Amino acid sequence: MWRWIGAVDRCWRCGGVLNSDFIEEVPLIPEHLGGKRDNFNLAKLDSKCARLLRSKLLPSLSAENPFACPECGEVGRVLKIDEEEERIVFELWCPQCGIKFKARDERGEEIC
Ligand SMILES: [Zn+2]
Ligand SMILES: [Zn+2]
Repeated sequence: MWRWIGAVDRCWRCGGVLNSDFIEEVPLIPEHLGGKRDNFNLAKLDSKCARLLRSKLLPSLSAENPFACPECGEVGRVLKIDEEEERIVFELWCPQCGIKFKARDERGEEIC
């Protein structure tokens, strides 16, 4: 599991101390899918982990936004991230409905 806010000088993924030359801020939910550029969605990562995150992010080709709440359609907030072999699994929370859900992949199947 990744580290979150409170460890500002550490890489969110590996926990390594961030060298200011190699910090990248990567939106966990891509901006074109409703991800905001705020503390809840911007992960501070070193270059290596940023590259890895980009390579594993869920495909965004499907018509349905995988980050949208299944009840109301609002884009959720990332609570937790787990890594599996091929992909990253997002646990999200909808501020409107108060429910938790997981990011679904492009075939519309729940990833768990
Ligand atoms: Zn790292
Ligand atoms: Zn909702």
